[in-house]
Amino acid sequence: MQCRNHPDREAAAVCERFNTGFCRECCECLSDDHCAECIDPQNYCKFRTQCIIQEIERERRVSENGVANAEPLR
Ligand SMILES: [Zn+2]
Repeated sequence: MQCRNHPDREAAAVCERFNTGFCRECCECLSDDHCAECIDPQNYCKFRTQCIIQEIERERRVSENGVANAEPLR
């Protein structure tokens, strides 16, 4: 699978619901234009509790804010 934002790159994390991937650069938010994030965070996702992209987002918020109070999406 390829990255959603970078079709020339291999996906490092995959959204199970939309069957969409993000490359390592997106996961680590290295490019200024694209970060790995949930495609449809407003709606219920049965994969969310085990979603690696969700986890990446959460860890990014924690490292940006320096606190672990980021509420997981439901
Ligand atoms: Zn990418």
